[in-house]
Amino acid sequence: MNSETEENGVGLALHWKILIGLAVGAVAGLICNVYLDPESSKTLSAIAETVGQVFLRLIFMVVVPLVFCALTLGVAGIGDARKLGRLGLRTLLMTILFSSCSVLIGLSLANVIRPGGRLSAESRVQLREKYTVEANITTAKAKAAKSLKDALLDIIPKNPLQEAVGSLDGSSPGSGMLGVMFFSLCMGVALTVIGDKAKPVLDFLDGFYEAVMAIIRFAMRLAPFGVAGLVFAMTATLGLDIIQALFWFVLTVICGLLIQLLVVYSLAIYFIARKSPMAFFRDISEVLLTAFATSSSNVTLPTSLRVVDEKLKLDRRVSHFVLTVGSTANQNGTALYEGLTVLFIAQVFGIELSISQQIVVVLMSILAGLGTAGVPGGSLPLVVLVLQSIQVPVEGIGIIMGVDRLLDMSRTTVNVAGDVVVATCVNRWEVDDLRDEVGPSN
Ligand code: ASP
Repeated sequence: MNSETEENGVGLALHWKILIGLAVGAVAGLICNVYLDPESSKTLSAIAETVGQVFLRLIFMVVVPLVFCALTLGVAGIGDARKLGRLGLRTLLMTILFSSCSVLIGLSLANVIRPGGRLSAESRVQLREKYTVEANITTAKAKAAKSLKDALLDIIPKNPLQEAVGSLDGSSPGSGMLGVMFFSLCMGVALTVIGDKAKPVLDFLDGFYEAVMAIIRFAMRLAPFGVAGLVFAMTATLGLDIIQALFWFVLTVICGLLIQLLVVYSLAIYFIARKSPMAFFRDISEVLLTAFATSSSNVTLPTSLRVVDEKLKLDRRVSHFVLTVGSTANQNGTALYEGLTVLFIAQVFGIELSISQQIVVVLMSILAGLGTAGVPGGSLPLVVLVLQSIQVPVEGIGIIMGVDRLLDMSRTTVNVAGDVVVATCVNRWEVDDLRDEVGPSN
């Protein structure tokens, strides 16, 4: 029996169980959708959603301590600010490169396929009416756009605890999880500066990290059931007529995400990390499945941390830093989705965006990918901000609400795969330098 099966009980490895949960949930949900009346489907899906939420909440519960411990320990393990700066810079460059690629893929497809022009006027009115409430909630969540100066200043939290409190639901006064990360980075550097006195703190954080991971291992045993519940709730209530009406939009988004996942990432893995893309995707299949089923980069973070240790065997000091920061700051699928959705909504309203407006969309989508919370639907308020900035009616967000969950599952898979790809590429550059300068990883 391998370690994975041992950890998750007798029998199949966890990724197979998650896959089975996914399939059972999807098929059962579709059967309900087709054969039951809408009221019964709604009741069953509410029960299933609750089962899914139990699983998600058990992991959300420990996301903030996990990010704090993983990042502080990671930074403290690197040792000095100069090496950290190099690692941070490489990570940032890869993030910007991948995000730019993905936004350009999204916008090119939107310009070529023109999904917005293919939506009938009748569907447009129906969809907007049906999702007015959700659209209003999302619009209210989008805070007034901050100036660049304020957005940058907000990365330094006035009160890290307050940022932590609102980091998963977007209610923090500053930059939420980015603020928590900034605090953790500072703590990590400070711990290396104080030398021997840091030892008890590091030992404590080490133990705390292991305890958090133990909670997550327990929660992951529930993953197959949670995943089945979440997917059931999605397919049981998903209007098949909505998929039909938004067919071209859904198709364009999925095509863009697949290009990013299978072409861009494979090229990076092959040429930069010098690994076989096939073997890479096989190794990270559990990560991809968890991301797809939960629609949350943050919930997937513990699985990614474990898989890069056990399967990809990356240097912890590199991978834990890149993955933890990436779960909030590197969201390529989200950046693609935001750009494409904004163009789609503009097309639906018959607004032709000039090249300069499209450049604004590109830049804002890249920035939005850097600041989106890694939770289900985290990017929607940012789509509203981008719409606002180019004067496209923000109520248009209602048009895509009905398919958002499905597309959220898909873009989160690309987000998390992107984090692991960046970690693998940066690991290849860093590992030799770190081994020479600091010594082997623990
Ligand atoms: N659900 C996405 C994530 O967690 C964020 C989003 O695009 O809504 O990565």
